[in-house]
Amino acid sequence: MAIPNSTAFNSVIRFRSPEEEKRIVSELTTNLNEGDSYFVISKRWYTSWQKYIAPIGGGAPRPGPIDNSDIIDDTTSDGDPQLRRYLVEDEDYVLVPHQVWKTLLEWYNVGPPIPMTLIYLLLSDERNVHNVTDIRLAKEASIRELYVKVCAKTGVSLEKARIWGYLNRRKVKLLNPLSNESLEESGLLMDQDILLEVDEVGLAGLVNLGNTCYMMNSTLRCLAHTPPILQYFLRDYTHQGELTKAFGELLKELWSSRKKAVAPSFFKTKLDKAAPQFSGHYQYDSHELLISLLARLHEVSDVCQGQCKSTLVCPVCGKIANTYDSFTSLSLPLPSTRTWSISFLSCLENFLAEEPLGPNNMWFCPECKEKRKANKKLDLWKLPEILVLHLKRFRTSKYFVKKIDTFVNFPINDLDLSKYVKNKNGESYLYELYAVSNHYIGPGGVRHYTAYAKLIDYNKWYHFNDSYVSPVNESVVRSKAAYLLFYRRVGSETEEAQSSEVSMTDDMD
Ligand SMILES: [Zn+2]
Repeated sequence: MAIPNSTAFNSVIRFRSPEEEKRIVSELTTNLNEGDSYFVISKRWYTSWQKYIAPIGGGAPRPGPIDNSDIIDDTTSDGDPQLRRYLVEDEDYVLVPHQVWKTLLEWYNVGPPIPMTLIYLLLSDERNVHNVTDIRLAKEASIRELYVKVCAKTGVSLEKARIWGYLNRRKVKLLNPLSNESLEESGLLMDQDILLEVDEVGLAGLVNLGNTCYMMNSTLRCLAHTPPILQYFLRDYTHQGELTKAFGELLKELWSSRKKAVAPSFFKTKLDKAAPQFSGHYQYDSHELLISLLARLHEVSDVCQGQCKSTLVCPVCGKIANTYDSFTSLSLPLPSTRTWSISFLSCLENFLAEEPLGPNNMWFCPECKEKRKANKKLDLWKLPEILVLHLKRFRTSKYFVKKIDTFVNFPINDLDLSKYVKNKNGESYLYELYAVSNHYIGPGGVRHYTAYAKLIDYNKWYHFNDSYVSPVNESVVRSKAAYLLFYRRVGSETEEAQSSEVSMTDDMD
């Protein structure tokens, strides 16, 4: 082969640039075939190489020769190098395809090479039986390592996972998560089916203690599935008052209990004491209870707190006055038209539209120094992490309460309020629904409340009807009974930063 002299001379002393090494390896990593052989590299060495090629931070020195000494069992001196036992992929070592190994060895030397035979297991997820994914592991890998790999891939935490050998859709053998037995020793072979079972907590029902308890249960359920509130109470917290303490204990019980239903009796006695208006037979409303609870659970209510700006204009003199009001939930009026269905955004736009104040609601204009007709305009000024929307389905007159049964078509996964927020510094305000409090009027005017809430980690919705809990499809969550909507903000900058940390080894899966 004719090699120009200069290149042959220079290649001895000139290294490729980090960018070039990164590009070549990433090209070799794409287009892999299932049958490709793999080699093991010490994670310690591999990390130092990644730091060298990664532009972030910069300036890491070029690593020395490939050094696998920390993962090799040096007690066996004969024959091929043997890996130490109980190593975990991506913690102690990484696997690279044959081509990548060859190239790195060319650039860095030493080693020694440790080829590895991989097997692929076919993982069925009990929660979604149509979903089968490949799990790639060395046949020498331990059952413990299999658990770590499966949990990393499915986002399930280790203590909630159970993995079974699975044959003809039947569970044949439960694999012990603490076992150091290898896949081979456990009889797991290429293309073997395994099944993941997950202990889903947070599905205990709430016992109805009588009176209007279903209303309390529905409200509590929505709060119990509110991530920042849950995080706060599942930590060790210093409680302020008796009600807060009782609420925290109830949440802990709901999220740790394997019971079918939890009785909120202790919380109820504290609530009766703190807010006696909810204790009687009178049919209070879940929105009133929510407001009252959030006012008392002030350690956590911040996450629901937003701000509205209202602008009053006096057309006579042009005087403008702004006021800013905090809210923990936004109450949206529903139009009283006979349309059976309206879009959520039209409700919101209606709510924010400029409108004249009624004749009984004149404004004392500070300019004219007398009561004037005025126009009022609302703007969303700041929106919170948890946005609670109250659909005002009840119209109260002197003699009766009328319920508006209009179907409100609200977004479930993509409520984008960015363009409505006035004080936002270019941030986006994207929200995702995770709980709904439903209100029903049955035969004879009997009221009832239930809740839909989502197990966010598993992306699954459940219907909570006092002590009865059942899985439901996302599509049923949107109904004419929807009364309180609980949204959480998603896609904020911190979340994006976390999800963009993808390492080279992840790309190869
Ligand atoms: Zn005026």
